Amino acid sequence: MISIRVSNPTILIVDDIAENLHLLTRELTDQGYETRGVLTGTMALTVARSTPIDLILLDIMLPDMDGYTVCELLKIDPATQTIPVIFLSALDEAIDKVKAFAVGGVDYITKPFKTVEIVARINTQLSLRQAQLKLQQFNQELEHQVEQRTSELAIANQLLQAEIQVRQQTEQDLRLSEMRYRLIADNMGDLVCLHSTDGQLLYVSPSIQTLLGYQSDKLLGKNLLDFCHPDDRQCIHIHFKEPLGSAESVTSCYRLRCQSGRYLWLETLAKPVINETGQVTGIVTSSRDVTRRVKIEKQLRYDSLHDALTHLPNRDWLAKRLELELLQCRRYKTSQFGLLMIDLDRFKAVNDSLGHLTGDKLLITVASLLKKCVRDIDMVSRWGGDEFVILLDKIVDIKEAIQVAERIKATLENPIEVDGKVIFTSASIGILMGNGTYQDSNEIFRDVDIALYRAKESGRNRYEVFGLEMYQAAIALLNLENDLRLAIQQQAFITHYQPIYSLKSKKLLGFEALVRWQHHNRGMIMPGSFIDLAEDTGLIKAIGGQVFRQVCEAIKVWESQYELDKDFRVSINVSGQQFRDVTFIDTLDQISKETGVKGHRLKLEITERILLEQSESIAHTLAAISNRGMQLSIDDFGTGYSSLRYLSQFAVQTLKIDRSFINQMRPQKQGIVQAIIDLAHNLEMDCIAEGVETEEQLTQLQQLGCEAAQGYLFSRPLPLEQTSQVLKNWHSQSAESFNPVAH
Ligand code: C2E
Ligand code: CA
Ligand code: CA
Repeated sequence: MISIRVSNPTILIVDDIAENLHLLTRELTDQGYETRGVLTGTMALTVARSTPIDLILLDIMLPDMDGYTVCELLKIDPATQTIPVIFLSALDEAIDKVKAFAVGGVDYITKPFKTVEIVARINTQLSLRQAQLKLQQFNQELEHQVEQRTSELAIANQLLQAEIQVRQQTEQDLRLSEMRYRLIADNMGDLVCLHSTDGQLLYVSPSIQTLLGYQSDKLLGKNLLDFCHPDDRQCIHIHFKEPLGSAESVTSCYRLRCQSGRYLWLETLAKPVINETGQVTGIVTSSRDVTRRVKIEKQLRYDSLHDALTHLPNRDWLAKRLELELLQCRRYKTSQFGLLMIDLDRFKAVNDSLGHLTGDKLLITVASLLKKCVRDIDMVSRWGGDEFVILLDKIVDIKEAIQVAERIKATLENPIEVDGKVIFTSASIGILMGNGTYQDSNEIFRDVDIALYRAKESGRNRYEVFGLEMYQAAIALLNLENDLRLAIQQQAFITHYQPIYSLKSKKLLGFEALVRWQHHNRGMIMPGSFIDLAEDTGLIKAIGGQVFRQVCEAIKVWESQYELDKDFRVSINVSGQQFRDVTFIDTLDQISKETGVKGHRLKLEITERILLEQSESIAHTLAAISNRGMQLSIDDFGTGYSSLRYLSQFAVQTLKIDRSFINQMRPQKQGIVQAIIDLAHNLEMDCIAEGVETEEQLTQLQQLGCEAAQGYLFSRPLPLEQTSQVLKNWHSQSAESFNPVAH
């Protein structure tokens, strides 16, 4: 770096003549310059290099080298090259001025010189040098500034470059992601749309073509509402309003019209598009075709409320309707409604004999007939099977319900033709008048069912109106059922035995086992009060099992104590329920095995009805019974269907003539009893007369050739202990009399 010295300039004087040197030194010192004086070129170079020198006065003629050479050397050396050199020469010396300038001199002065001239020339050169130095320094500074600016610019440039790169990357990323989104939106099966806040379509994905048949660009600027099903407009309106108010997405379902004119169900998710300032700028929706799902849902809804066969409302729907009815009744206290529960009589027989298909068609016909018997506001529903329930809306009098029941009864009494077959049917109907005092539909169904049960019980093809006493009776029955279950657990059944005698030999042939229920607080209950219920509830199987075991155990004891006749048998009553039970024979076998009682000691009493069923399993059971040496008798013969065909088919040994016939016997009126006895004999069976109470009856039966009899005349059914006593007496007396036990 070049420094400009402002204090006294230093002049180096180079002259080999000492006087010249002194003279110049003195004069220049006087002028205020600093001076150095040297006699040789070498010294001049040394001083110039080591000391700050502002100007050199250089003699040409020097002892060691000439002034040109010194000047050249000075100009080569960077440390000295800027020092101005003024050549000195004597007048007589021929100075080569051209050379002086060529080697870098700036001026020359010829000796002898005047001090004024020297000073003027020195000053000129010095100020020239000063100016040069300033210029140089200025240049340097300028250069430095330029350099600095340039590097600043370079950094700024680099930063800019980096930013540009980042921006380019971001832009590229954005383009890529937009491309991806568009690719997804364009190729999705779902329909993606962008809507302006006022509902105009701004973007529609191409999937609309496959979905609705429109070209996506043709829809731009249009409003979805224009394609919406008129019934769904409200929904779509709300659906577009809601996302505008919140950042949440909203789901909705509505129909849109296809190009073809038909409608598709779409499920749409709508989400607001929000800009940086939080403003909603549009709505983006994604929709999919849910037509199939909606259809299935509709079907399921329909199925859940309708009966598949008749398409009538089902039980659930009726229950719902009844709940509404109850609400109304509670609000308007006087409001009432009627309920009819209808059960077709003997529908099972139709199904069994004509097949299920015909049965189904009959039900469909009945359904439409029932609808014709009521008003439009009433509801006819099917409860499955052959049960229908009708709700009569807002009737004021039970008479109206009865009128409908009469109408139904009359309608169904007409024969119905199905598949060319004429079917006679009838119905049992339970009627109920309902009001707001009912808690719920279940209570109503319970009561109308009780009324129906009563109608069926009273002989079918009739109606019964529900009353409180019916409810009480039903409750009593329910309690009885509970007690019966408990009795089974506690084995509260005991068997009584009624002796059966031969009318010819007066011999004791055996006993009929008759069950009794030892009730915990009602005392002894007779079978007539609980056998029906036990059959209805299936509890008869358990009761029958207990009776069978008690009988076998008694026989076992008797066999060990008395020498029983080889024909001695105990008759056991078996109900249809038991007989149809697939485990029935197994139970008999099991108990026989456990007690060691053989089949020939037993006789089963069944009713005609069982044989009439003619099923394979019944035939199987009958065969199993005779295989085990057990006998069969037909109980209460003559009270039922008395179809003679079946009698010869099975191994039945005995017909039991029902007590009602014995009771009706008069000396000249023995027709039925006579007929039964003749029939039995023709079929090689014997007869037992039940309920023989008088000597006359006994005599008549003997005259008619009846083989055996039982009845109060001989003995009431007896508890085990007394029965054993009868046996004991019989054997000890071997009497000819019928009745060894006095009563
Ligand atoms: P059933 O099989 O007809 O039995 C005869 C019924 O007539 C018995 O009534 C018996 O006590 C009664 N009886 C006998 N002799 C006379 C008489 O001279 N005059 C009158 N008025 N009645 C007489 P019970 O014991 O009340 O039995 C009623 C019905 O209960 C039986 O009728 C039978 O169908 C059923 N039953 C009884 N025990 C059983 C059983 O263990 N299982 C099944 N499934 N049913 C049974
Ligand atoms: Ca019997
Ligand atoms: Ca009987």
